[in-house]
Amino acid sequence: MAHKVCLIRGDGVGPELVAGVEVILKAAKVDIDWIDVEAGLKCVEAGKPIVPEETVAKIKEIGVGLKAPMTTPIGKGSVSPNVTLRKKLDLYACVRPVRSLPGIKTPFDGLDIVIFRENTEDLYTQIEYMATEHVAHSVKIISDSASEQICQAAFEYARANGRKKVVGVHKANIMKIGDGMFLRSFKKVAADYPDIESWDNIVDNQCMQLVTKWKLYDVLVMPNLYGDILSDLAAGMMGGLGVAPGANYGKKCALFEAVHGSAPKYTGMDKVNPMALLLSATLMLDHLGEHAARVNIEGALEATLNKGIKTYDLGGTATTSGFSAAVASELK
Ligand code: NAD
Repeated sequence: MAHKVCLIRGDGVGPELVAGVEVILKAAKVDIDWIDVEAGLKCVEAGKPIVPEETVAKIKEIGVGLKAPMTTPIGKGSVSPNVTLRKKLDLYACVRPVRSLPGIKTPFDGLDIVIFRENTEDLYTQIEYMATEHVAHSVKIISDSASEQICQAAFEYARANGRKKVVGVHKANIMKIGDGMFLRSFKKVAADYPDIESWDNIVDNQCMQLVTKWKLYDVLVMPNLYGDILSDLAAGMMGGLGVAPGANYGKKCALFEAVHGSAPKYTGMDKVNPMALLLSATLMLDHLGEHAARVNIEGALEATLNKGIKTYDLGGTATTSGFSAAVASELK
């Protein structure tokens, strides 16, 4: 029976990337019944909410979605569609695996880290106001329940996937109450997993250690903002935003998306790398139990890269559609 999957085609380069991924999944003979749902800038331009209620309801009903990047209007006005979706679907765990990929040379050989980012609170509550005419307040919320939930997800993942270490990342030396609560939650959860080695690092030190001692790290777990920043840093280490996949998990739904945004300046140019969305789709295939298809696609991707077929961000000349067709032709 076909897997039902909601599909958000996104803004900017989103639709081009989705087209590429559709070609590859079809060629891999994965039976998916795509259900198009709307969100993002297109909705705002059509006078609708940035994330219409029917979109949220449909993803809740189906339980799985693939999402291309969406544009967040900057400044006053609309909230982020990404943050809104994560909150409305209670996708509390943002999971971003970063690893060295065959055929992509970086200074970070042997990179293999999974970042767990808390997805629902911290400075992403979008609660901001002017305290006086000249002073703005942005509210940072950290709760013990959300902190324990994400730490537990990280430790459970480590145990289930043969990972040996989980490191909690925070800034509790300065934000003693908020990040202090995250750190206490991390230590409380860690005590339930004596089989997994664990320690904590202050976020600035973690950034430095990530680029100097990346092989020391296995699973990292942290509040929302640090996760946002560190996962882009780690994306750069694996070859750039064009190759870094991501997944958002809640108790009832899962939504898969690339780490990168809608790269508006490349819209319609058939230029950007579809790998990040494709690798996000392979995480989705694992979630759907389609492990053989995931392995098949990863093999085809490796064969394509090894032939030197790459998009501009990896030093190549392939287009989005050309690269996607090349991967599809390598499938077994
Ligand atoms: P971006 O990730 O869209 O692009 C930054 C740069 O990274 C691009 O100019 C390009 O050089 C490179 N890049 C990104 N994706 C690439 C790809 N697939 N292949 C090759 N190179 C790629 O970040 P931005 O310009 O800061 O944000 C643009 C919009 O995207 C904003 O509205 C932002 O809010 C939104 N955004 C959305 C998401 C999401 O949907 N999950 C994530 C981040 C940013």
